[in-house]
Amino acid sequence: MENEVVSRNFIEQIIDQDLAEGACETVCTRFPPEPNGYLHIGHAKSILLNYGLAQKYHGRFNMRFDDTNPTKEKDEFVESIKADVSWLGADWEDRLYFASDYFHQMYEAAVKLIQKGKAYVCDLSAEEIRAYRGTLTEPGKDSPYRNRGVEENLRFFEEMREGKYADGEKVLRARIDMASPNINMRDPVIYRVARMSHHRTGDTWCIYPMYDFAHPIEDAIEGVTHSICTLEFEDHRPLYDWVVRELEYPHPPKQIEFAKLYLTNVVTGKRYIKKLVEEGIVDGWDDPRLVSIAALRRRGFTPESIRMFVDLCGVAKANSSVDYAMLEYCIREDLKLKRPRMMAVLDPIRLVIDNYPEGQTEYLEADNNLENETLGKRQVPFGRELYIEREDFMEIPPKKYKRLYPGNEVRLMNAYFVRCVDFEKDADGNVTVVHCTYDPETKCGTGFTGRKVKGTIHWVSADESVEAEVRLYENLINEEKGVYNEDGSININPDSLRVQKARIEPALADAEAYESFQFVRNGYFCVDCKDSRPGAPVFNRIVSLKSSFKLPK
Ligand code: ATP
Ligand code: MG
Repeated sequence: MENEVVSRNFIEQIIDQDLAEGACETVCTRFPPEPNGYLHIGHAKSILLNYGLAQKYHGRFNMRFDDTNPTKEKDEFVESIKADVSWLGADWEDRLYFASDYFHQMYEAAVKLIQKGKAYVCDLSAEEIRAYRGTLTEPGKDSPYRNRGVEENLRFFEEMREGKYADGEKVLRARIDMASPNINMRDPVIYRVARMSHHRTGDTWCIYPMYDFAHPIEDAIEGVTHSICTLEFEDHRPLYDWVVRELEYPHPPKQIEFAKLYLTNVVTGKRYIKKLVEEGIVDGWDDPRLVSIAALRRRGFTPESIRMFVDLCGVAKANSSVDYAMLEYCIREDLKLKRPRMMAVLDPIRLVIDNYPEGQTEYLEADNNLENETLGKRQVPFGRELYIEREDFMEIPPKKYKRLYPGNEVRLMNAYFVRCVDFEKDADGNVTVVHCTYDPETKCGTGFTGRKVKGTIHWVSADESVEAEVRLYENLINEEKGVYNEDGSININPDSLRVQKARIEPALADAEAYESFQFVRNGYFCVDCKDSRPGAPVFNRIVSLKSSFKLPK
């Protein structure tokens, strides 16, 4: 449309201007995870933002593992991250990079800084460096090693690499300005000695570059034009710019910060998710109660729903927190027309139709999705004995209760009208069987009696249905108390998982991992990819059907 209003987020406005001014010719973005954990919904935002920009501007999107800190990195995380990014639909084509592949170039870059008099080897201990650094209100103090000569610095740095010094004995520091109002500019450490085995380079190196030095170099080497990161790096930007300037890269990348995505009352930080996993509070990184991407996938979220969610959140410059209900809204919207609506009884009690022929099974036709004809129809077996939801019968109904109670007539979805004539109880007073009679004239679509009923309930055939485990989730966090206690521990909701034995239509028995369905009235469910077996299915509830959530204007 010609007069369509195209609104640009602030990052797009920056890119438009850079392109217009010739600061760059094409756009190259990257997603640079540290392989020290699984990705979560916040990372999805970063991935889709970076990939989306590359697509919009017909540029490139790189996938780069920022593996410069060997302590916590693992190949397991590399593999899970690749799987998650691909699943979200972000395509790095043949541009999969590892920061560790640039260790040699980073070393050369450090040498170049030393030669320019812009870096020096410092013998102060970590504590001394901290003490010399000053505070927000006081300038720092020069290190006594700040004015070492170039030759001496080159020799010491070389010796650091050769393994002559113990961890922490010497570091390489950028020589910038100890009086800078920005503490990050007070001669930051850019290389340290650390005898650690790296997941890819093994023991080749015993010195490793610091993040603030390594990251701009990685971006520059790859020709990244816009290096998008989160707000906590805003104060590091002058250092980023200093590094690319001093190293004289012909096309310096530009750092742009945006606000992290937070969900209210949800644990998003990698560090905290890790803690929940390690303490066994959840069952692995993909426990469906988490918001790691693996967990969302296992629970039954789709890439489309996450994309919709990220788009709705927008890109901002100020931190804020989004309601989890918005994510739920997105998955409902995505599945509503796509997935069949089936019958499953989560908390079954038996219903016997006294006047229905014993031993007879008939197949009744049901629409798979009333709002989407293309999903077709299916045949559902019906017989004398059925299961219905326990909550759909009451001995003494409250006012306005429209479902089964003695004397009342309801519609069995896709089947007949039935009237409750009797019920049975066990010794504890629990209802065990509901007795009804049916009216053959009311068969769906055929007979019409002119009579109306107020309630419709779902059911499955007692003989033909299959038992299934269903897992019903609530927030892992006790929302009344907030996420964290004062001591940093997490307020866990003890009832975040409820497991029930349900009865499902036979058509659902062989559903495959990750397949999802609407179970009428009960919500959207997805076949668990780990624990479900043919004939013994396990379903995770993705989300219930109803919500008071309203889209923000
Ligand atoms: P966490 O804080 O959860 O540990 P991180 O920032 O340490 O995450 P990285 O692997 O360093 O994780 O992040 C990779 C990229 O994802 C970075 O560019 C980072 O800014 C971005 N990112 C991380 N968390 C979020 C978030 N909550 N919202 C948006 N982007 C995020
Ligand atoms: Mg990090």
